[in-house]
Parts: sequence; C-alpha cells; structure tokens
Amino acid sequence: MPCPVCSSPVPTPRRGPARRFCSEKCRGEARRGAYRAEVLAAAQTVEALTSRLRALEAERAAERAAAVEEMTRVTGYFQALVAALAARQAAAFVGGS
Ligand SMILES: [Zn+2]
Repeated sequence: MPCPVCSSPVPTPRRGPARRFCSEKCRGEARRGAYRAEVLAAAQTVEALTSRLRALEAERAAERAAAVEEMTRVTGYFQALVAALAARQAAAFVGGS
C-alpha cells in the first residue's frame, strides 16, 4: 500500500507491524491534516448551529409579529363592537324618552 500523503511506496519492515507512511515527515503531515480536519469540522458544526439558531429566532420573531397583528385585529373588532353597542344604546335612550 502506498503512502497516503505522498503516494510513494511504503517500505515493508522486515519485522514488526506494517507501516502506513513512508516517513516520519509524512506521518506528522497526516497527523496535522487530521487535526486541521477536526478543527474545520468543529468550526462547521458551530456555524451550522449558529445559522439554525438564527433561523429559529427569525421564526419566533415572525410568530410574535403574527400574534401582535392578530391581537390588534381582535382588539379593533372588540372596540368597534363596543362602540356600535354604545351607539345603539344611545339611540334607544334618545328614542325612548
Ligand atoms: Zn510519504
């Protein structure tokens, strides 16, 4: 199996376990690469979580705005109803006297 870093053939040791890399330099390179990949993955996870959080906050803000709009609508309807009832009562009072 060739070296995964520089793809040069890995010498087979006469005894002991088979080596994965052709040299200490490539071994260190692979280790640094793995560390970099880990750091990159962690950064991407944080970024993904941050964007998910932002999406949730935006969703909640939209829901709040919709609730406020609904409340305003209902309050307006209620006020109009009260005004209409008051007007009817005033008319009945005027007509009754
Ligand atoms: Zn190598």
